[in-house]
Amino acid sequence: MLQAPQRYLNFIGNELTPADSGETIAVVDPSNGETFASIPRSRAGDVGRAVHAARGAFEGAWGRFSAMERSRLLMRLAGLVDAHREELAQLESRDTGKPLKQGRADAQALSRYFEYYAGAADKLHGQTIPYQTGYTVLTVREPHGVTGHIIPWNYPMQIFGRSVAASLAVGNACVVKPAEDACLTLIRVAELAAEAGLPAGALNVVTGLGAEAGQALAEHPDVDHLSFTGSPETGRRVAQAGAQHHCPVTLELGGKSPQIVFDDADLQAALPVLVNAIIQNGGQTCSAGSRVLIQRGIHDALVEQLIERFSALRAGPAMADLDLGPLVSRRQLQRVWDYLSDAQASGLGFAAQGTVQDNAPSAGFYQAPVLLTRVPRDDRLFQEEIFGPVLVTTPFQDEHEALALANGTRYGLVAGVWTRDGARQMRMARAIRGGQVFINNYGAGGGVELPFGGVRASGHGREKGFEALYAFTNLKTIAIRHD
Ligand code: NDP
Repeated sequence: MLQAPQRYLNFIGNELTPADSGETIAVVDPSNGETFASIPRSRAGDVGRAVHAARGAFEGAWGRFSAMERSRLLMRLAGLVDAHREELAQLESRDTGKPLKQGRADAQALSRYFEYYAGAADKLHGQTIPYQTGYTVLTVREPHGVTGHIIPWNYPMQIFGRSVAASLAVGNACVVKPAEDACLTLIRVAELAAEAGLPAGALNVVTGLGAEAGQALAEHPDVDHLSFTGSPETGRRVAQAGAQHHCPVTLELGGKSPQIVFDDADLQAALPVLVNAIIQNGGQTCSAGSRVLIQRGIHDALVEQLIERFSALRAGPAMADLDLGPLVSRRQLQRVWDYLSDAQASGLGFAAQGTVQDNAPSAGFYQAPVLLTRVPRDDRLFQEEIFGPVLVTTPFQDEHEALALANGTRYGLVAGVWTRDGARQMRMARAIRGGQVFINNYGAGGGVELPFGGVRASGHGREKGFEALYAFTNLKTIAIRHD
């Protein structure tokens, strides 16, 4: 029997509420293309109510919480997320198509973000500054007030965790606009936050279209800080909207991250990491290792091993929990297809391709992983973020060429370097343009503690680790004259 789609609602002022207009957006299961839920199609009025609720919390009950009280509350929330881990994982996997193991990992990371920032909330100190005789000068870190969080669809729980947990830890009140393709877990987590004791208005989730609800949040004059993760083009739009009211903006805009393999590397250690860095979440990862640069002497041998591994990869429904799920939406699948047909038109053959499970529903958004080798530097597939399970390899001669290729796109987010040569590790790490460099590993398992962000078209500002606490606070200097 067909079930009526479940109706999800906005979470504003600790209440579940529809959009003012009553309009909704269908939520589609990427594994089978079927509508199974709906979310409110919110507009500027709904966003305005959420910002108003957040301002009220910041100036009211939430604003009076001490750092210790915030810490304890976030720790309770971490515990609640943990207790609901399986429920959240299943919901995330159904909503986004990610394999269940990835949904579980994301729920665990969300709990860890709350735990980490709970621990940090009462440890953010100012300084005293030696100054002229008769003065005492000190700095204090203060919350911005109302922070806006525009979250993409690829890792809703993780990206929500990394920005909202840090923002709440220092005492801001948050308004979250999730991507229309991935809202459900964030509404549920907001409910859990209320259960943990978060005062009404301290955390609000408003769903809707980017061009409507997202744009309204970016433009809202009473938002004091914006945190955005998504494409460079939308990031520019959000930054422009924020600039109209002098709002600081943190932008995380993805990348075309290289993994550079030198001929002295431990290839057996590198191989599974090279594959996982592009396969995880179907390649829909801002820090995906989407280019493998290989020193000529080992190029063919390494490619042969990559071919073997790619050919064995399988995609299938989220709940089948294979190497990959479907992509998040038909739109994203079409984007990836466009890149692949361009590749074929320009004569780049597929060196290897995985498979889609035979009984995967035909209306699901499946793309088997693809390996393309010897992709030239000026090719679109080398330069642009595909955001799908497509890996390109390119050979290089020496360190100089490796660096030119690594830095040869408009992005600068993450890089991996595989070599046993200690001096080269350091030279490469220092010369690579980006926000994180991993030597003989990649991604360090997510690393909630590790500052993360990019340069150039990958964005600016840092989230994760202690750095995020600086981004979500203003530094105030107080000079006291007492002679
Ligand atoms: P967008 O950058 O358009 O979307 C990211 C977020 O911004 C979503 O919440 C979206 O809402 C919202 N948004 C969209 N338009 C506006 C706007 N005018 N003002 C404010 N917010 C807005 O990415 P797409 O989903 O269109 O994906 C396109 C490409 O972007 C991908 O192929 C990938 O390359 C890249 N991307 C990078 C991510 C990363 O982690 N760095 C994450 C996601 C995408 P809504 O979805 O409801 O429109």
